[in-house]
Amino acid sequence: MTDTKTLKGGEFLIRETAAQDIFIPEEFNEEQRMMAQSCKEFTENVVNPQMDQLEKHDRELLSKLLKEAGELGLLGISLPEEYDGFGQNFVTAMLTTEEMGKGYSFAVAFSAHTGIGTLPILYYGTEEQKKKYLPKLATGEYIGAYCLTEAEAGSDPNSGKAEAVLSEDGKYYNLNGVKIWTTNGGVADIFIVFAKVKGDKNLSTFIIEKTWDGVKLGVDEEKMGIKGSTTIQFYMDDVKVPVENLLGDQNGGFKIALNILNLGRIKLSGATTGASKATIDNALNYANERKQFGKLISSFGAIQHKLSEMAIRTFACESLTYRASQNIDDAIESYVAGGMDKGKANLKGIYQYAIEASIAKVYGSEVLDFVVDEGVQIYGGMGYSAETPVERAYRDSRINRIFEGTNEINRMVTVGELLKRGFKGELDLMTPAKAVAKELMGIPDFGAPSLGYFEAKKKVITNFKKAILMTAGAALQKFMEKFADEQEIIMNLSDMLILTYAAESMMLRVEKLSGMYDEEKLSLYKDMLDIFFYDTAPKIHKFGLDAINSFAEGDELMGMTMGMKRFTKVAAVNVVAARRKIAVKLIEDNKYDL
Ligand SMILES: Cc1cc2nc3c(=O)[nH]c(=O)nc-3n(C[C@H](O)[C@H](O)[C@H](O)COP(=O)(O)OP(=O)(O)OC[C@H]3O[C@@H](n4cnc5c(N)ncnc54)[C@H](O)[C@@H]3O)c2cc1C
Repeated sequence: MTDTKTLKGGEFLIRETAAQDIFIPEEFNEEQRMMAQSCKEFTENVVNPQMDQLEKHDRELLSKLLKEAGELGLLGISLPEEYDGFGQNFVTAMLTTEEMGKGYSFAVAFSAHTGIGTLPILYYGTEEQKKKYLPKLATGEYIGAYCLTEAEAGSDPNSGKAEAVLSEDGKYYNLNGVKIWTTNGGVADIFIVFAKVKGDKNLSTFIIEKTWDGVKLGVDEEKMGIKGSTTIQFYMDDVKVPVENLLGDQNGGFKIALNILNLGRIKLSGATTGASKATIDNALNYANERKQFGKLISSFGAIQHKLSEMAIRTFACESLTYRASQNIDDAIESYVAGGMDKGKANLKGIYQYAIEASIAKVYGSEVLDFVVDEGVQIYGGMGYSAETPVERAYRDSRINRIFEGTNEINRMVTVGELLKRGFKGELDLMTPAKAVAKELMGIPDFGAPSLGYFEAKKKVITNFKKAILMTAGAALQKFMEKFADEQEIIMNLSDMLILTYAAESMMLRVEKLSGMYDEEKLSLYKDMLDIFFYDTAPKIHKFGLDAINSFAEGDELMGMTMGMKRFTKVAAVNVVAARRKIAVKLIEDNKYDL
């Protein structure tokens, strides 16, 4: 990347970002807002009123809705114009994903189609494949699905048994096998299927059409949630796939699977941001109507605490999602400027931010789970009734921690990728890690200079990063090449990393807002930031202690314990007053409007 201001993926751990270099949602332009409005109107007026019927496995209705989305142009937002799309950038695609995320299980069908069902062809297809399939996928004439998972191959997809055998005349591959958990399977026309060519070590990818001999579709799975999206088993019994339908290189499918997952991961945090906002809106509407003890429940402190906390975490999630999305756009642009083909640049740009994508996936899915849980609680008994939208939101949320790589796998990706890039010399983790170790040996600097508001916050973030570097550096020294076996420590480090990225993204957004809002308006955002930092520091402290207590002892442990305390110090905050202020704004607006 040519732009030195843009940090490389993972580099946030060792370098500072300037607020003016990040994108914040307040900067969307008119065109982007109009696209978001179209998505909003479609989910609110067309999709959501039919959700009960959609949840009865009505495949015809799901097909019809996807096609209607196609007619409105919503399926082709990120596809190039030459394939009947709109050629929009990543940030815009993310905004539309966020809005569609308010459409419950339809959002899953939409995301599977526009993401994993379509993009492998855009990024890896030959010109013929792109011309043949993309315009139909952009308009909804064809619906796409993605078949990677098998009964014995979930988190470890390269271990699948589906097999392809090249015919003697070299004209087609003969495919056999069973894929499970195929989202959109019941309505799809084309399937992106992963299978190993006999004798190969890695997967290959094939585009298979529903109408071909030997393709059989299973019935819809009965699921806990997202019942409006069809999920089936996909059977292949001697399916003859013309060699023209091999996608990318033979033996090169694992790379495709991983790269497409990176994309799905960050998109998921956009969708969960939208779903979180929708749930907050519903909870606010209910709390502003429901009376107990002669008062609206929204006037109770316990409920206000929940509402403000739901909003703060959603705001943090939104901040990190768009920060990373703009990084991806900038990287793509800079690769293209360097002469790279657009498709390759897209893939490289997304891979560059694989760490941030996994962070966003984990954070977004866990924020939404928190938000829907509190949403049900605010509704009380009615939250348990299938008549209310929070009951559906609660059921639908849970899958997000499982697909697109489970949150455990994604946590491992965050730390694993960082270390990989460190070892490869792409990120200099050693110098700052050594500096922290040296700082620990020195005398702490207690002379607290009076810092401005954002300077003080930046110091806290720098300290959080020191806590991570100290823990990771010592753990690596202790376990060396066996570090990968220490999953509990990796989970701790990942949680520290995720919280730090969220806190920093939120801080940079509020700092940027300080140039746009007057002090009175800004004070609410500062309150949110204060609370977030106040809540985050003890969490980082706990994760750090869990890690160091498991491998260090004696003087080393004592030194690191003191360091951990020092690196996770934050200012005291009157969180009750601050949360009440935020709740009052939410209650007055009767919607999430932050
Ligand atoms: C509703 C739904 C829709 C889906 N849609 C699709 C789709 O469209 N296409 C598709 O291909 N797949 C799809 N999937 C599959 C999904 O991606 C997998 O379920 C997921 O990747 C996890 O695989 P698994 O279910 O086999 O769990 P497993 O891999 O068996 O994992 C079980 C548990 O073990 C943990 N675990 C596994 N490996 C490790 C490890 N190395 N270290 C530590 N912990 C580990 C996991 O985190 C998890 O907690 C869908 C799944 C569902 C439920």
